[in-house]
Amino acid sequence: MINKIIEKINDLSKNFDEVKIMHVCGSHEHTICKYGIREVLPKNIKLIPGPGCPVCVTTQKEIDTAIYLAKKGYVITTLGDLYRVPGSYESLQSISKDYDIRIVYSVSDAVKMAKKERDKKFVYVAIGFETTAPTTASELLNLDLDNFFILNCHRQTPPIMEFLLENTKLDAFICPGHVSAITGLKPYYTLLEKYRVPLIVSGFEGIDVLLSILMILKQLYKNEIKVENEYKRVVKEEGNVIAQKIINEVFESEDKEWRGFPKIKNGGYKLKEKYKKFDIFENEDIPKMKEKIPKGCICDKILRGEKLPTDCPLFGKVCNPFNPVGSCMVSDEGTCRIFYKYKKFNF
Ligand code: SF4
Repeated sequence: MINKIIEKINDLSKNFDEVKIMHVCGSHEHTICKYGIREVLPKNIKLIPGPGCPVCVTTQKEIDTAIYLAKKGYVITTLGDLYRVPGSYESLQSISKDYDIRIVYSVSDAVKMAKKERDKKFVYVAIGFETTAPTTASELLNLDLDNFFILNCHRQTPPIMEFLLENTKLDAFICPGHVSAITGLKPYYTLLEKYRVPLIVSGFEGIDVLLSILMILKQLYKNEIKVENEYKRVVKEEGNVIAQKIINEVFESEDKEWRGFPKIKNGGYKLKEKYKKFDIFENEDIPKMKEKIPKGCICDKILRGEKLPTDCPLFGKVCNPFNPVGSCMVSDEGTCRIFYKYKKFNF
């Protein structure tokens, strides 16, 4: 079946000069690299990794803020991925000998710690897209704690897709499967109306990604541009309505900067008035951070889909998973990390 799909992709590809397809999910990039999907595609079908890793798009200023708070005496709780991401001068890991930095599996662990150690003030660095925002929100729903705060780094995916469609020449999107399981297809209809490009929600097996590419080429060939759901076994048209309700109870949209991008309209979430007491910015006077981007690192261009990790002079040499220079080399979902894992390079 896979061979047949590849054959069909090859046949259809002859009708186009070039087709640029972006995805915004680290797990899709894993699938693409693991199964060598770029290698089996015709040369004119380009798969472009976009800003699909929540850790990677967290700005250096946000990491610098977490470090600042640790130095002010807060216990910083964070998911393991973010722990190693370099800030402007240090990472949470590098200051962990002197300050109380704790890796947690989820926001619930952080809340449990705060409940147990009432003499300390806790900050949970809340990162992630629509997939993790509901867990943060559900924890805050009925929380009555005055020593627990969040550094809110949650972001929304469809607005960044809109920014990319507006500012980049893209022919189609492979929409993120996990995010779509929460949002459903509705946000993509809005994008479709404005930009008229194929938007295919895709699963994470090699065959899912190949099928999605075939669906895109068929749409372009027949000029029947639409939203299609290849991942029906998980993603429902309406999404996860309960998760949406919880998000909407606690958060509202706000414009937010992403690493490598300017402020994205509705690109983030802010806590609603009722939950503002948990916002660390409401509780602490935090100075404006001036970030320092590491010399030579092109994470910004990689996140915008303008370059690949192999274009970075530091890739695999100075920068590797043991000594990450930029955010894209840290998380398992980061494009540089994924390229490093699956590609065979002679460094
Ligand atoms: Fe940044 Fe390292 Fe990726 Fe280069 S290889 S873009 S330095 S993370």
